[in-house]
Amino acid sequence: MNQQEMLLLKLGEVVLKGQNRKSFEDRLVTNVRRRLRRCGSFQIYVRQSTIYAEPLEGRCDIEAAYRAARQVFGVVSVARAVPCEKTVESIVETAKSYLAEEFARAKSFKVESKRADKHFHLNSIQVSQAVGGDLAEAFPSVPVDVHHPDLTVFVEIREKHAYVHGPAVPGAGGLPVGMGGHAVSLLSGGLDSPVSSWMMARRGVELEMIHFVSPPYTSQQAQDKVLELAQLLTAWCGRMLVHIVPFTEIQEEIRKNCPEEYFTLIMRRFMMRLAQAVAKKAGAKALITGESLGQVASQTMMALGVTEDVTDMPVLRPLIGMDKVEIIRISREIGTYETSILPYEDCCTVFTPRHPATRPNLEEVRKAEAVLDVEALVDRALAGETWIRVKP
Ligand code: ATP
Ligand code: MG
Repeated sequence: MNQQEMLLLKLGEVVLKGQNRKSFEDRLVTNVRRRLRRCGSFQIYVRQSTIYAEPLEGRCDIEAAYRAARQVFGVVSVARAVPCEKTVESIVETAKSYLAEEFARAKSFKVESKRADKHFHLNSIQVSQAVGGDLAEAFPSVPVDVHHPDLTVFVEIREKHAYVHGPAVPGAGGLPVGMGGHAVSLLSGGLDSPVSSWMMARRGVELEMIHFVSPPYTSQQAQDKVLELAQLLTAWCGRMLVHIVPFTEIQEEIRKNCPEEYFTLIMRRFMMRLAQAVAKKAGAKALITGESLGQVASQTMMALGVTEDVTDMPVLRPLIGMDKVEIIRISREIGTYETSILPYEDCCTVFTPRHPATRPNLEEVRKAEAVLDVEALVDRALAGETWIRVKP
């Protein structure tokens, strides 16, 4: 029976978008097509807030497609289903064979039906009654329990076929990547920035990453770890560019010339300048960081103001109000945790001041920074920029 299995993907918020709905649906279908391409040849189309993914050949990997579909933003639920003829007999036969194992384990069941095809001669309650009655006869040891069933058999009467499936699993939710604009995300090797990137991608933002390296203070392994994190994110966001920007000279100049208590803040101001320059060149409209209020000295409200001072782009900080435990929970769920905790140094962790300013004064920081040739340092760092295209 497995060869007939296909996927039903339910659209989330997308359906609420009024007249934009069509472009949201088109984008989502494109994204699903792209992500399922690696799993074999599928026919993918949308009808009535549902995306159908039907395998076109025997070698389609439905298991892999099912996993990939759950990582596409804009999809609220995914079900593996089997299509059949739109008759009660055919639906019952399909449920009997397709869900035989589930029936063997279940202590009770019910049928839940949906009639998307309003011309079908039975309404949803009648479908459930007819199919449920026949299945109860076929599996006499599994009684119907409409309140707390062990197994729910879902029947959907749609345009061309009826579909039978077990419970749908939750999808990634959010909005299709590409519908929320284009932003540059500052990706370090830590726990936070992969999560902040993921959260904005979930709001439909197409990402480009920027990572600062400070050889010889930071190692090749530290950079590889960041590329690995970007790679893990592509399962959710699709392919992306990772810009690698050299940061050593800037850090050394700050250490040589600026008061120690402002090291981190001035460094962060340079990061924002460089990220903004890369973003403008890429046509991106915002920056994303993994900052969370009060997490470290450079993330107090005043410190954030000092950092943001050098940009005129929106700085999106999706973790701003989150606790570390919540951030860790998400990082585990999205699969970046194990890589993030690998113990490689980040350029933020070299040259850290012993007593960083937590209530910095903007004018003082500007003055402290003014001894540097900011423009030349930024230009040289940008001249050394390289990029890598990371694919799923
Ligand atoms: P993370 O866990 O993401 O490393 P963090 O709590 O350690 O964050 P910081 O090191 O102060 O915080 O960095 C704050 C934010 O600045 C990061 O979330 C990230 O967006 C950005 N950032 C820090 N280091 C780098 C880097 N080397 N390259 C790119 N962005 C960075
Ligand atoms: Mg960090």
